[in-house]
Amino acid sequence: MTSSTVELRRRLAASLALADPAGTTAPEPACAGAREAMALAQALGLPADAALAGARLCEQLWRLGRHADVLTHAPPVLQALSQDPLAGNLALERYQLMRVFAISACEMAAFDRALDTAHELVRLVGPLGDPNASLKAAFTLGACFERMGDSWQAARVVGEALRIHGPAAQAEDQLVTQNALCAFYIGLFHRLNGAAPQAEVDQALAQALEAGARAFSNLPNPAPEQMEIAVCGNLGEVLMYNGQGEAAQALLQRAQATAQARGFAAYIWRMRTTMAVNEILQNRPEAALAEMQALITEMGDQAPLQTAIRAHHAAYRACRQLGRFEDALVHFETVERMERRRATQQLRAQSELFVTRTEAQHAHWQAEQARQDAQNQRARAAEFAVHAERDPLTGLGNRRHFDRRCAELLPALQRDGEPVALALMDIDHFKIINDTHGHAAGDRVLVALAALLRENTRSRDVLARYGGEEFVIVLPGMSLAQAREVCERLRERVAAHTDFCAEVPELRMTVSLGLAAAQPYEAEALLKAADLALYRAKHDGRNRLRVSPPVSAPDHATVLAPDRQGG
Ligand code: GH3
Ligand code: MG
Ligand code: MG
Repeated sequence: MTSSTVELRRRLAASLALADPAGTTAPEPACAGAREAMALAQALGLPADAALAGARLCEQLWRLGRHADVLTHAPPVLQALSQDPLAGNLALERYQLMRVFAISACEMAAFDRALDTAHELVRLVGPLGDPNASLKAAFTLGACFERMGDSWQAARVVGEALRIHGPAAQAEDQLVTQNALCAFYIGLFHRLNGAAPQAEVDQALAQALEAGARAFSNLPNPAPEQMEIAVCGNLGEVLMYNGQGEAAQALLQRAQATAQARGFAAYIWRMRTTMAVNEILQNRPEAALAEMQALITEMGDQAPLQTAIRAHHAAYRACRQLGRFEDALVHFETVERMERRRATQQLRAQSELFVTRTEAQHAHWQAEQARQDAQNQRARAAEFAVHAERDPLTGLGNRRHFDRRCAELLPALQRDGEPVALALMDIDHFKIINDTHGHAAGDRVLVALAALLRENTRSRDVLARYGGEEFVIVLPGMSLAQAREVCERLRERVAAHTDFCAEVPELRMTVSLGLAAAQPYEAEALLKAADLALYRAKHDGRNRLRVSPPVSAPDHATVLAPDRQGG
């Protein structure tokens, strides 16, 4: 490392420290520090430090109420923080920046971007099982709902999160979440006030008071400034609406003094509007109006929408109290215009939310439909496969069935070292049966023989009608000796059977069988060997079983290429 690099790194560390939101630097110089740190980190090729500096810049801008600037600066930093290794190393910084971004987006009425980010945050921290992170994510989402005009949903989300994660969370996160809940109930109070039965309005205020008082009573001493400002500011506001003007004033002033000392402009602005309302409630409209006029000028186009609406509304009330109706009308119209703008943005966001949900539902249904179609398709295919492999007359498998089953079975048997035997069975002089009793009787004989075969084999065996009056039986797990017994028994059963055809009770018949056993575990070879044995059975007088000869058996060695079908 050259000495100049060492110097640059030293400056980077110093400016990063200056920008640290946990430090005591006022937001303006902290922003300057963050910008310098970003430039230095980029020059030094240190992406993690650059992202950290960017995140700190956004948080300081947020404290200054410069939400539009946050919306400009945060996205590339969030993008960088979402990539590994930064995502792993700077996860907490990423979550904090997501919170800052979501709230700023709300303040700028960019509700869709706010909600996307808040939902993403909830999704990211959910699996961590960290109660503190879960609480923070919940109140970020709640803040979005609140700013979108849905205080009910906001209070629900955060109340629920407190119940689930509160007990395991650290005191600080519990307190901050309680305080957020207080803010959402204040919002609910405003929304209900004058628009709902008094009992509901009172209840919202009582809930705000409860949450605010709880947060306040848990405030550490000394408390982090930002926390102190937020908690005292909220409880002060609740007390004010609760008719406790003096107590309210003390808390609001405490919050104001701290915000002033730290230069947290956004808090200062908000606190000033609240105190102006308090002045109005205590019949001092003159002071309130002067204060709001000054504030409106000071905020200019940096004003967060919510604070601007409150400031103009306070000015309107002050003017009305003073009998300055023309001025009151101007402020009232401004409030109306801003409220309309906010309502439109809220509606758009809600509509998008609705559309997104509807689309998700639609996609879900489509996926479900597709799944069912596929299932039906598979069932049909399976059914078709069954039909395609089934001999319609006897209900036994056909040649295709035999081929498929053997392809599955034989390699498995070979792998497991299990024996297998294969028998071919052919009805003796079937042509004569057909000729004597008719083709229909012949068919019934085939059906009866199939039933007899089914009854006398195991479910594990493969049975198939291989040709007109020819059947194949695969006997997995059976040695040649065992299979020979099975086949002999079958042959005897057929010969003894008296119930082949109801119309021809006297009909008797016999079968001949050829048997072969693995090796090889190949259907074709086994069939060929069994067929040769069957030919010998026929040749030797029918109604008998012949076993595929050991190659050494001399008296059978010459019987190799018969055309039995012709014989
Ligand atoms: P062998 O003892 O030598 O086997 O004599 P076979 O008469 O059985 O011999 P062959 O194989 O020449 O004749 C088979 C006959 O089976 C011919 C055919 O008419 C008859 N057959 C084939 N399929 C069916 C069927 O589905 N129904 C009926 N009724 N007869 C069939
Ligand atoms: Mg035949
Ligand atoms: Mg035959």
